[in-house]
Amino acid sequence: MTTIDLTPFSPPGTSEYAQAGASFQLAAPVDPAGAFTARSIDDVVHAVATARRLGRQLRLTTTGHAMGRTGPLTDALLLRPLLDAPVRVDPDARRARVPAGKTWGDVVPEVTRHGLTALHGSSATVGVIGYLLGGGLSFYGRRFGLAANSVRSLTVVLADGEVVEANATHRPDLFWALRGGGGGFGVVVEAEIDLMPMHRIVTGMAVWNASDAARLAPVWQAWARTAPPEITTSLRMLSLPPLPFLPPYLAGKRVLALDGAMIAPTEPDLPAAQRIADEMLSALSELASPVANTWAEAAPEALPLVHMDPQQPVPFHSDSALLHEIGAADWARILDAGPNLIALELRQLGGAFAAAPANVGALGRFTAPLHYYGVGLAGEETMSDLKAVRSTLRQYLTGFTAPNFVDDFERPQRTYDDQTRARVERVRRAVDPTGQFAGDVAPTRDQA
Ligand SMILES: Cc1cc2nc3c(=O)[nH]c(=O)nc-3n(C[C@H](O)[C@H](O)[C@H](O)COP(=O)(O)OP(=O)(O)OC[C@H]3O[C@@H](n4cnc5c(N)ncnc54)[C@H](O)[C@@H]3O)c2cc1C
Repeated sequence: MTTIDLTPFSPPGTSEYAQAGASFQLAAPVDPAGAFTARSIDDVVHAVATARRLGRQLRLTTTGHAMGRTGPLTDALLLRPLLDAPVRVDPDARRARVPAGKTWGDVVPEVTRHGLTALHGSSATVGVIGYLLGGGLSFYGRRFGLAANSVRSLTVVLADGEVVEANATHRPDLFWALRGGGGGFGVVVEAEIDLMPMHRIVTGMAVWNASDAARLAPVWQAWARTAPPEITTSLRMLSLPPLPFLPPYLAGKRVLALDGAMIAPTEPDLPAAQRIADEMLSALSELASPVANTWAEAAPEALPLVHMDPQQPVPFHSDSALLHEIGAADWARILDAGPNLIALELRQLGGAFAAAPANVGALGRFTAPLHYYGVGLAGEETMSDLKAVRSTLRQYLTGFTAPNFVDDFERPQRTYDDQTRARVERVRRAVDPTGQFAGDVAPTRDQA
């Protein structure tokens, strides 16, 4: 039998293969024909040329957070762009250039030292490029919108090996499609993003007994409807395992938790920020006293730890959906439907998430008021709870989903209207006519 030389991709069984395929999501198989960690743009160009020459599909990964929604990798080559290049911040222009492979944990300290922040998500371990390409729901989002709208320019290696800069004036169609279009356009090797002034934030987590959840949730929803856009929150039923590093009010307990961030971009904004966070907590605490409350003024670099996302790889299953407002009478049924889930989350949208600024990409806004995300350790109990929660949510499903949170290749919802979908596909065909990146297209019912 002749062995095909996949160089620079390493074959299964090698440490290079294991390193390039290392994934945060441990429940999904990562079994491509070969895997390669690219350390430079030249490496990426070489990898793309090799895949083209061998007639193999090229699949992309940075951290593997989204490996669960990836279809079978069989026969494909896996490329992990982890460039040896720094994050470059221009504080005067309030811009940062972020090379492929960086996580938000790499970027946040670099920008906050200049009194600036970026529209990062709840977890420091998520990859910047993958997050931006999927829209990006940030705890700053009700004030600044989807993170994809903060992208100014993307440098991409296309299927034919050309390295192009896509921005508002150069390759504008590609720039539009990359921002939320669902992948399959090429390898993004650098993103230029806008930064925002951020003096301090008011952040933390308030925790109540689970028995108070159904009374508190409708009050939170009513508050969320008219809350100022400077605050973005997440309400969760949390059931964390009894881990030694967790505080006693969370370890092994089932609780209702409210976290998020209220922004104070300048020093004079701080008293009002504190007051708005206090008012939100008072409205809920009048109904039931929290068992713990850590909300307080903090530096913006504290934010990626507040949501307590796992720092290490885990095997998980999750489900998500964009929701209409939930009727007051249904909260108890919904919040009780997933007792085995680690988290059943409702994220507050509205504000700038729903606004339509000029020149956005394929995914520029979410008009739904709520985002649902349920997650648990991989296994039958979690799958059954996710189904049960979805069934209680049936009448509130908008039929659309935030692509970043899709974790199941078989169960996607819609992401785009028909016109947007058709335009995304036209761009994809133009830049990748042979479908070299076709396996990297995120699943969505739009493609049915
Ligand atoms: C614990 C946790 C917390 C999260 N928190 C948030 C949150 O607060 N807000 C939010 O919006 N999302 C959040 N997410 C979802 C996350 O943003 C998506 O899973 C995102 O796709 C992860 O990107 P990645 O590069 O880390 O993952 P990967 O699985 O490595 O990549 C996902 C996809 O991104 C694309 N991609 C990655 N790198 C490149 C590249 N260089 N060029 C071209 N395409 C590329 C590929 O299509 C790839 O399939 C969270 C996920 C987890 C597991």
